[in-house]
Amino acid sequence: MLRFDLHVHTFFSKDSLIDPKLLSKIAELRGLKGIAITDHDVFGAHRRVEKSNILVIPGMEIRTNTGDIIALFIQEPVDSKDLLEVFDKVKSQDGILIAAHPFGFPRLRSNVASKAYELLDGIEVMNARNIFQWQNEKAKSLAKRLGKAEVGGSDAHTLYEVGRAYTLADASSLEELRVAIKRKTTQGAGTVSIPIVHLTSFVARIKHTISL
Ligand SMILES: [Zn+2]
Repeated sequence: MLRFDLHVHTFFSKDSLIDPKLLSKIAELRGLKGIAITDHDVFGAHRRVEKSNILVIPGMEIRTNTGDIIALFIQEPVDSKDLLEVFDKVKSQDGILIAAHPFGFPRLRSNVASKAYELLDGIEVMNARNIFQWQNEKAKSLAKRLGKAEVGGSDAHTLYEVGRAYTLADASSLEELRVAIKRKTTQGAGTVSIPIVHLTSFVARIKHTISL
């Protein structure tokens, strides 16, 4: 099984300082086969990642009015906040939809969650930015109960965090990875980062504001 960090933010996200150019080297150092670029409601930073053997999955983390959803394997930005519309737009691109940190923040709202989960392919069962490991354990039991694919990602906003959590998949190409998620043969793994990483997002926001 190879490792894929399916949740990475670059400086296209206002709370991250990661230069996408540096990501392939770091990913290689951390023993990853691939990374997904999942900036908050922005698309395109995957094009800035230096070409290498590392697979780069184009994606977005979309703040819908129902909660945070990760879209993977998309070719165009998804500009809706409505979960059903997001679903249509991602599926028309043959993309994959994942519930981001279902027991972190902001998660899918509980009054709509069960309907929403029906639309999703998978659940992030390992997110390194979750403060407590029990948040990941609950996510894992939820994925098992609902029969959803299990994936993991660091939710990195600094280079330090890249690869802390990841998805294990028997895949050596983008298409094989997409199929592995579809067939629910992937696993989430890794550890949570130290809570201080949340402070770095605060610093990043200030830096982005100053440079405007
Ligand atoms: Zn995120």
